[in-house]
Formats: sequence, C-alpha cells, structure tokens
Amino acid sequence: MTRSHATESVPHQPPPIRPGRPRPPIRPGRPRPLAVLALTPLLRYAVVRHAVPTGTSRRTGCDACGTPIGLDRPWPVLGPTARCGGCTARVGPPPGTVELAAATAVVLLLTGPPTTELAAAAWWLAFAVPLCFVDLAVHRLPDRLTWPAAAGTWLLLGLAAVTGAGSEPWLRATAAGLSLAGFFALTTLLLGARGFGIGDAKLALGAGALLGWYGWATPVLGLLLAVTLSGLVALGLLVTRRARWSSHLPFGPYLVLGTLGALLLVW
Ligand SMILES: [Zn+2]
Repeated sequence: MTRSHATESVPHQPPPIRPGRPRPPIRPGRPRPLAVLALTPLLRYAVVRHAVPTGTSRRTGCDACGTPIGLDRPWPVLGPTARCGGCTARVGPPPGTVELAAATAVVLLLTGPPTTELAAAAWWLAFAVPLCFVDLAVHRLPDRLTWPAAAGTWLLLGLAAVTGAGSEPWLRATAAGLSLAGFFALTTLLLGARGFGIGDAKLALGAGALLGWYGWATPVLGLLLAVTLSGLVALGLLVTRRARWSSHLPFGPYLVLGTLGALLLVW
C-alpha cells in the first residue's frame, strides 16, 4: 500500500477517497435481456450436440468439413449466424432462431413469479428451448436433456417449498408431473407410434411439475393449449399438403409453448 496520505486525515477537509473500484449503482436483481446472448452459445451447443439420429454418437464437429465444435471456440459456429468457422456451412438451427427463443423466454420470466419459482421455470426453459430445436430437427427428445430438466425443476420447486411456500404446492407439483408424464406414456402404450413419444412423457415430467405448482387446473390448461396448438398447425400442414395423415409431427415444441402459455396466465 503506497497511499500513505490516505491514512492521515486532516480536520476540515473532505474525507479522503478510498482506493478501490467505484461502487456501481445497486439495481434489484433482474437479468438484463442482452445477457441472454452470453447464454445462447450454450443452448446452440446443446442442440448441435444432441440433434443426431438415435444410435448415433453426439456431434462433435461440422458435418461438412469436420472443424471441431466446442464451447472453447464458440464463435462463429455457435453464434447467431450459425456458420461453421472452417467452411461457412450452416450448422444447427437457422440463424437467429435460438437467440429469439431465448430472448422471448427471458422476457416471459421477467413477468415476475417469485424468485425460487422463477429459478425452477428458468432451469426448465434452459433445457426446453434446445429440446424444441432438437425435436424439430430429428424428432427426438434425448434423455440427456429431458432428465436433468425434470430433476432440476423438481428440486428447485422443493427449495421453494422449504423456503416458504410449504409442502402442499410441491406435493401437488410432484403428482401433476407424474400424472402428465403417465398420460403421455399411456398414449404410447395404447396407440404405439400414433401416440405421444416416451421423450414427450419425460419432457412432461418437468412441465407438469411447473404447472401443478399453481393448482390442478394449470396442467390441464397447459395440455389443452399444447394439443390445440399442435392440432391447428397439423391442420394447416394438411390443408397446404405439406404433411400427410401418416406424418409424424414433433410434439415437444407445442408442449413447451402450452406450458409457457399456461404459466403466463397464472403469473
Ligand atoms: Zn465446416
């Protein structure tokens, strides 16, 4: 310490300025929308890595030229332009889409549920957003994303229960997650390929828990929204002949949208 003058205070002089950083203005803890851009390479990485057909190992490089894709070198391949740094081929979801989805999710989260419940919803969305893109690309909802999504959501809701909300909403959330997942699994058993997939059931575990926290009507509403939305889109695709009755349409994105829609109505 060389600032010896700072230790001798003379009367009638303003107090010496303390060394160190100036104090930043204190703002209440709200994530800034731009901060989401720091997260989107992580989301893109999850999509690129897991959007591979069943039985294939995870993607580690560009399909066209083999340039490795990793979080140590996220630009430009995991940036909004989604172009390989080696050969400029497009990699992963279309430019801007993941960024837009993530920004929308952050804006929705800012509508203001209590902090711990917000953490649970944010956790679930951090997995649900890449899962939507993986499902659209390869019609799969990989376990490596659905299980941690459900487990983290359930634990964070448990934290909300312990820190003030009490056990009742948590028990209901647990039951709702299991019920919604059970419903999806049952359609797979009864209808086979025409039912929902087992991946949808695993995604529904977390969705049902998030929604069940707010009452039994919320998961029902979320499911109705998801089914209605997917039905309308399927109808549109049939009418415009871009899909046939036998086409398999991914349901994950609608489940995520239905969950968000129902959450917005209760927040
Ligand atoms: Zn390449």
